[in-house]
Amino acid sequence: LVSIALVLMSCSQTKVANTENGLEEKRIDSILAQMSIDDKIGQTNLRGTSSRAKTLSEALKEDVRQGKVGALLNVMNVEFVDELQKIAVEESPHKIPLIFGRDVIHGFKTIFPIPLGLAASWDANVARTSSRVAAIESSSVGIRWTFAPMLDIARDSRWGRIAESPGEDPYLASVLGTAYVEGFQGDSLSNPTSIAACAKHFIGYGAAMGGRDYNTALIPKPLLRNVYLPPFEAALDAGAATVMTSFNEINGVPATGNEFLLKDVLRDELKFDGFVVSDWDSTIEMIAHGYARDEKHAGELAANAGMDMEMTSKAYENNLKQLIEEGKVSEKQLDEFVKNILRIKIRLGLFDKPYRDKTNEANFYSKAHLELAKEAAIKNTVLLKNRAVLPLSKNKKVALIGPLANAPLEQMGTWTFDGDRTRTVTPLDAFKSANVNHVFVPGLTHSRDLTKTQFKKALTAAKLSDVIVFVSGEEAILSGEAHSRANIDLPGVQEDLIKELSKIGKPIVLVIMAGRPITITKIIDDVDAVLMTWHPGTMGGEALQEILFGSREPEGRLPVSWPKTAGQLPYFYNHKNTGRPANNEDYVSMYDIPIEAWQSSLGNDSHYLDIGFTPHFPFGYGLSYTAFKYDTIKISKDTINFNEDVIVKATISNIGKSDGKEIVQLYTQDVVGSITRPVRELKGFQHVSLKAGETKEISFKISPEQLKFSNHKGVDAAEEGNFNVWVGPNSSSGLKERFYLKK
Ligand code: BGC
Repeated sequence: LVSIALVLMSCSQTKVANTENGLEEKRIDSILAQMSIDDKIGQTNLRGTSSRAKTLSEALKEDVRQGKVGALLNVMNVEFVDELQKIAVEESPHKIPLIFGRDVIHGFKTIFPIPLGLAASWDANVARTSSRVAAIESSSVGIRWTFAPMLDIARDSRWGRIAESPGEDPYLASVLGTAYVEGFQGDSLSNPTSIAACAKHFIGYGAAMGGRDYNTALIPKPLLRNVYLPPFEAALDAGAATVMTSFNEINGVPATGNEFLLKDVLRDELKFDGFVVSDWDSTIEMIAHGYARDEKHAGELAANAGMDMEMTSKAYENNLKQLIEEGKVSEKQLDEFVKNILRIKIRLGLFDKPYRDKTNEANFYSKAHLELAKEAAIKNTVLLKNRAVLPLSKNKKVALIGPLANAPLEQMGTWTFDGDRTRTVTPLDAFKSANVNHVFVPGLTHSRDLTKTQFKKALTAAKLSDVIVFVSGEEAILSGEAHSRANIDLPGVQEDLIKELSKIGKPIVLVIMAGRPITITKIIDDVDAVLMTWHPGTMGGEALQEILFGSREPEGRLPVSWPKTAGQLPYFYNHKNTGRPANNEDYVSMYDIPIEAWQSSLGNDSHYLDIGFTPHFPFGYGLSYTAFKYDTIKISKDTINFNEDVIVKATISNIGKSDGKEIVQLYTQDVVGSITRPVRELKGFQHVSLKAGETKEISFKISPEQLKFSNHKGVDAAEEGNFNVWVGPNSSSGLKERFYLKK
């Protein structure tokens, strides 16, 4: 723990100082000057391998020897890593080391909660420590590059990769994006336990229409700049070494061949000096998109757009030389790619220390790493409902039921190739080791199970117990890449079993382990408490056990709006107003009232007749075992100038019986703008601990800089006018004030 903390304390921007930069560029130029076109093209080649390969292919060795490969992904046999690196640095034409990349997304061996769960912690420290642990573990097997963090804003829970996202809010995603980069890259990229981060997917992958993976994205420029871009800007400011293009097209141009994005935005505006990698085959996917005629054309488009390194497909390897000879791509462009790639190889220290530092292999699943994973799982848990049943008292007999109560693999979630399921602590394991008085009857074999044969056994067990803990959810493969769902209810017959159990009259605690919000409107009234644990990773069971019995409280808050039904999606709290009211606080389903009353009340509101407008639980929402009251809000000035800050102060009291932690949230609304503005935007948050009965004053500073937005004319500025400001527990409540920003 101490060593992790020390490295984190010195985590700083990994961009090197100007003088070092000069030396670095000289070094790059001197290598480049010796390279032939073929050697240069070799550096742009990220070759995929099968992590299950039992032998090292002779053809691959030969390609590395000839300098035809710049980087490799998924080489998971450490002897192969060592051997290939040795060939590269001893036998290849310019002795340029390889970079080994891997999807180390939320842990390597020790698995942390899925990124959406980590986002629910609203805690930069959690993001930073989880990625530091991932870097320490994975670098020991030679991985010096991870394809993370994924910073795609996700506004649609049907999208399978929402699991891997930082949620729907650009500010929260930026805070987390910065922290992930700091954790992966450590105090300096050249530290052998540092791994290069990859901010992905650039850009708009999360805006896939209808939440269907890989689908078209239409993102007008103000939306791009105000919502989708900020997390990338934050990650680049933190020194992210690489960026990955996305599979999707955006406004008609696939991201991998998008010059505006890769050159104008990434290089010219954001001054990115690392390298851009395509996504898996995304270069040649431009053919299926209907943007490139063939492989060669795809290579030409990607090269001229500024994509440096091609993942898996061979449009560069097969065509770049000819494209240069034909004058369709300049050699200068290729030189730029190689410089960008060499720059990161130098910064990683690979030229000086090409081989892995094995020391940390001994730290896989170390006590410290497991402790941090448990802490993250506690912080990621969101309490959505509690009818005075939680925390449970120790002397109660628990019926532990449900398909995720003892599912070691599923609990780890998406992207966990390297996690060992036998190390997972499930809720059942944790109940056993904490001597919880319990009986375990899963009732269903897996989340999609359609058979009801085990229901009877579960019902009998429930009758003989005092309380039911039903661990429901989705198996890991129901979220993640290419795993979108149109219906996001609990799969299989889980709802049926919950309904049956509710007839017994014993309190039910519904635990959800899933890669996305799950619509639970049909069963919410049948249960007494709901805990969302996402896919909580290796230590999820122990975290849950501690929360259930109250030695810890659930500390998470929703990083995404929780819909009532998939028909409401996409839904996001920072939406715009329509010209019609969209407020359904007193909403009654139109289907539940007589036809005459319906006709007379048929209003003009912008809502759905059957579910109204608001989500089931708003962004930012989460209960605690105690209760908080927001007492007062005060602002320092009613009118501020463009060079002034405004201070917002609020007092908050813990009015419950136990000590607790609250995440105090600050939102603003720019009431009138040159383009319409969201109804609310998160601008800050603070974690506050309050003892029972205690009151604290919390202070936020808002600067005009934070009120800037980009409009349809590309003007990026704060505008004169009224601003509403709220301090509160989530995006749909809080105490309100107002100030005027004056030119
Ligand atoms: C995913 C990327 C990932 C890559 C390599 C792609 O299918 O979209 O996020 O990094 O595969 O595994």
